[in-house]
Amino acid sequence: MALFVLKFGGTSVANLARLEHVAKVIRQEIINGNQVAVVVSAMAGITDQMVGYCQALCPHEQTPEHDVVASAGEQVTAGLLALSLKKIGIKARSYLSWQIPIHTDSTATDARILHINPEKIQQSLSKGEVPVIAGFQGLSREGLITTIGRGGSDTTAVAMAVALKADRCDIYTDVDGVYTADPRLVPSARRQDTLGYNEMFEMASAGAKVLHPRCVEMAMKHNIRLRVLSSLTDSPKGTEIIEDKLVVDQGNVTSIVHSLQEAKVTLKNMQNQPGVAAKLYTNLGNANILIDMMTQSHSREGYIDMDGMINRNDIERFQTTMFASKDNLSFSDIAIDKNVAKVTVIGMGLRSNMDIPALICRTLANEGINIHMIYSSEIKMSVTINQQSLKPALTALHKAFALDQNYIEKEVA
Ligand code: ASP
Ligand code: MG
Repeated sequence: MALFVLKFGGTSVANLARLEHVAKVIRQEIINGNQVAVVVSAMAGITDQMVGYCQALCPHEQTPEHDVVASAGEQVTAGLLALSLKKIGIKARSYLSWQIPIHTDSTATDARILHINPEKIQQSLSKGEVPVIAGFQGLSREGLITTIGRGGSDTTAVAMAVALKADRCDIYTDVDGVYTADPRLVPSARRQDTLGYNEMFEMASAGAKVLHPRCVEMAMKHNIRLRVLSSLTDSPKGTEIIEDKLVVDQGNVTSIVHSLQEAKVTLKNMQNQPGVAAKLYTNLGNANILIDMMTQSHSREGYIDMDGMINRNDIERFQTTMFASKDNLSFSDIAIDKNVAKVTVIGMGLRSNMDIPALICRTLANEGINIHMIYSSEIKMSVTINQQSLKPALTALHKAFALDQNYIEKEVA
């Protein structure tokens, strides 16, 4: 008997009718002869509502109480799905993170899962029950409720799959797989049958919301079979995330991802001397603020400007943190630019083929699009551009790399 972890996202459980449909998807896996453990998100919109309440009371405060409120939606869904399963004759029981427990560190709003004790869930499975686990929630060593970052119930599912040594983890969402670009902006984008773990990780980190980056990292590390598929269609095909070495078309670009979630920050006129970057990163680390695409440029004799991209939700915390150590960090001012889009081109081909960066830049130049910042690593290249250029940039790049054609067509061409 195979054991699968099935995770259902917010849209899949958005109302009672959808929950009843999900219960039938689970029943089908059981009829097929498999054991199933389930992880659920909050109903669509509920987490936003909960976070909204906290922010209205105490803006930008990230405390354990925030996590108590933010994680409430998952409790509701876990209970309701267990009820829906019982209603169609399937034995089920809901589990909140503290009941298992799912241990995390103590970082409110963005905790990391440290350890899961699988015993209770294994007992539940061996009694023939479907355990329905509330995603997103954790329990710190101090006994406080934590949450593991927005979109984190994917990571709960993979962590559960690791702890249970499951045969596969299926992430059910509202799209039928991972696309070559966002189909809302690039209508010719197509679903990919397979993607390498590293490609998927880069996509998730670059802003593709379909999977939580840490879940991919974890699946890769523990070699968990991972699929992304839709709970809204009857015979979902989905995308399977596979080992990088099995990716057929290693010489190519597989996807173009964008993010409008970030803002460019510039610390102006920092002293150009050893230790400045060290102080900056220490401050950011202490405040748990992620910064990406960090570059430094000469501003005037003896001084530099530091540019980076941060999440827009972190802007105020960034400013407060920086100004709190203004003397120590020695900058004159902070500039914030929200008119930025980050476009990332991903594919194993970037490892070896220097024609790819040239084609990216040439394609944007032909569209008259100015690139502000460039960052490249092994299998990705990110550029930042003005927001209004996003759609033409995505469309032109998608075409330049022939992502609207399938492999067979590409080989024939
Ligand atoms: N409900 C949480 C969120 O909206 C976690 C998740 O859905 O993965 O971020
Ligand atoms: Mg999600």
